[in-house]
Amino acid sequence: MKRIAVLTSGGDAPGMNAAIRSVVRTGIYHGLEVAGIYQGYRGLIAGDIEMLKITSVGDIIHRGGTMLRTARCEEFKTDAGFERGLNMLKMYNIEGLVVIGGDGSFQGARRLSDAGFPTIGIPGTIDNDLAYTDFTLGFDTALNTVVNAIGHIRDTSSSHGTVNVIEVMGRDCGDIALYAGLAGGAEAVIIPELDYDIDALCRTIIHGKKRGKLHSIILLAEGVGKPYELAEEIHRKTSSDVKVSVIGYLQRGGTPTPSDRILGSRMGAHAVDLLRTGSEGRAVGIKGNEMIDIPLEEAIMMKKDYDKGIYELARILAI
Ligand code: ATP
Repeated sequence: MKRIAVLTSGGDAPGMNAAIRSVVRTGIYHGLEVAGIYQGYRGLIAGDIEMLKITSVGDIIHRGGTMLRTARCEEFKTDAGFERGLNMLKMYNIEGLVVIGGDGSFQGARRLSDAGFPTIGIPGTIDNDLAYTDFTLGFDTALNTVVNAIGHIRDTSSSHGTVNVIEVMGRDCGDIALYAGLAGGAEAVIIPELDYDIDALCRTIIHGKKRGKLHSIILLAEGVGKPYELAEEIHRKTSSDVKVSVIGYLQRGGTPTPSDRILGSRMGAHAVDLLRTGSEGRAVGIKGNEMIDIPLEEAIMMKKDYDKGIYELARILAI
């Protein structure tokens, strides 16, 4: 293999730049040429491709977002769009591809691999919604952002004695809410994977108030949604002053944490090693601090569940 390429696709995530840098530099270190494809599969179809040098990826490890930019591209899902993308790879003499993105991007990667094109996936999404890996790239940074936000809100919450409902990202996966709930000392965590009991939640709030708690933080995953309705119901049942904060896109950006930079660097290097040694159609992940890889098809199929131990601990600590 002489020439490989890298692209980022779907939602951006902090740490993607560290992964790009690692693919480019480990690739060059091992004697490969590395092309950068801009704007994900859209740029692939359009031939928005350029050769990257060691210096091309300088000064990016500490930046959020992705220097290759990213996109969602419906055309790549069609047979004609897919064929155009595949032909573009051949036209540029690219022999292997690293796709950094979420489960949707992995679908595109798997399709390339099924068509015989060596492709490796790196899980880049803040949602942590891929079951085969302990963590996805960007999750740790998003968690830090949310925990910081909880700290700020908690100051006001304690001063005014309010209940605060904080909606966080994660789509159908409650991991950001769950981990941030534990780290931020939330009174309750509401995730899409589990039904919640509004009366029990309100009893916790009232009980906390009675024993002098100055604040109540309720973390709500966006997959459950309806933060204003929830706030209204809590107000009705507890007579508390309830405020709502929807953190939104703040969670997607920002300088990546050291953990995400290290994870991106390790995953990028592992992806290049797989391509160099003839492995294809694999998804890179981390399990117990070890780099792992499994077939892309399995990575897409595996159903993610929430961590019951973390949930239970967050619940116990909120008494
Ligand atoms: P995030 O988790 O941040 O949303 P994602 O990778 O899951 O990231 P998607 O919008 O689901 O984001 O997918 C990104 C892109 O992957 C799509 O816009 C499309 O170009 C490509 N893609 C998704 N599904 C397929 C598919 N079945 N076949 C080919 N390409 C696909």
